[in-house]
Amino acid sequence: MRFETRAIHDGQQPDALTGAVIVPVYQTSTFQQEAIGKHKGYEYSRTGNPTRQALEVVLASLEEAKFGLAFASGVAATTAVFSLLKKGDHIVAGDDMYGGTYRILEKVFKKWGLSTSYADVDNFGSFEKAIRKNTKLIWIETPTNPLLKIVDIQKISKISHRRNILLAVDNTFASPYFQKPLLCGADIVVHSTTKYIAGHSDIVGGAVVLNDQKLYNELKYYQNAAGAVPGPWDCWLVLRGLKTLPIRMKAHQENALYLARYLSKHPKVERVYYPGLKSSKNYSVARKQMLGFSGMLSLELKGSFEKVEKFIAHLKLFLLAESLGGVESLISYPAKMTHVSMPREERLKRGITDNLVRISVGIENKYDLRKDLESAFTFV
Ligand SMILES: *Cc1c(COP(=O)(O)O)cnc(C)c1O
Repeated sequence: MRFETRAIHDGQQPDALTGAVIVPVYQTSTFQQEAIGKHKGYEYSRTGNPTRQALEVVLASLEEAKFGLAFASGVAATTAVFSLLKKGDHIVAGDDMYGGTYRILEKVFKKWGLSTSYADVDNFGSFEKAIRKNTKLIWIETPTNPLLKIVDIQKISKISHRRNILLAVDNTFASPYFQKPLLCGADIVVHSTTKYIAGHSDIVGGAVVLNDQKLYNELKYYQNAAGAVPGPWDCWLVLRGLKTLPIRMKAHQENALYLARYLSKHPKVERVYYPGLKSSKNYSVARKQMLGFSGMLSLELKGSFEKVEKFIAHLKLFLLAESLGGVESLISYPAKMTHVSMPREERLKRGITDNLVRISVGIENKYDLRKDLESAFTFV
């Protein structure tokens, strides 16, 4: 079956007891056992819950994978993957990444004995150069946050496999509708389901998706042992959201492409970052590994920080907020929001300037969105 059908049906058969078409919210912490050692597959909701199970099955299906595991947040899913490593292991990570991933590597895992080198995602050779004898994991995000660079997953997977290093891809910005990293050679996919997958800015959640049985067993063990599981209501909201993932993603992309083209010709804009623009140096790799360019774009305004402040202050539809991937358009200021945990020199070195704003283009009417931008520009 195709993606759209799997999103609606996989893991979500009508309820055997009542015929309910929608998977119920199994709001229970524990499950009665028929006899000692005999139960219906569920014992305790940290270990397993039917609503979460439905979500885990459909998430795996959307990535064309064998196994899915749901977590309480994207960061919890990321933590689970890093927990596969042990003291003394080394990670190579792409340098343009979610600020929270950088934070956990530097502030949490470093003191536990994991070290990380950051490879320049614009320079493929830098990944190979950064690899050491003790490198166990390569971590990439693509499209990257916030500069929307595209990393060639297949090329990186060739290096990682040659050296028996795991390759994990944070697929949050593309969603499985537009990109399936496992099919490009990645070993592990991570999502913040908070974003496009749930899609309505109403929950925080995460997922790990993969094919390898042994790694799955380790992660499943970790999920129960560490306990950062999502509650049944949150799982239900993700299930509800992801049924419309395909039509939302098409709408996000249509609007983002329209606005990216408009902004790239605007005299008050220094630069637009959107992999779907033919002028983008990432366009050809994006075309190769993605089915679409998603709904995230960033832009650099001309002039001072005061202009950026004014521009944002006069927007009405684009809400100033963290996060992305919801139906409503959001704007954020990476230097003071998503990337505040990164030292300024690090930030500037990576191209995250003081004039950079990131937009999560929602699925409102694209002409209304353009009008809102136009009117804010008149104040700058
Ligand atoms: C939001 C985000 C995360 C973290 O997810 P949470 O659900 O906020 O914990 C990780 N990676 C990317 C790319 C994100 O956008």
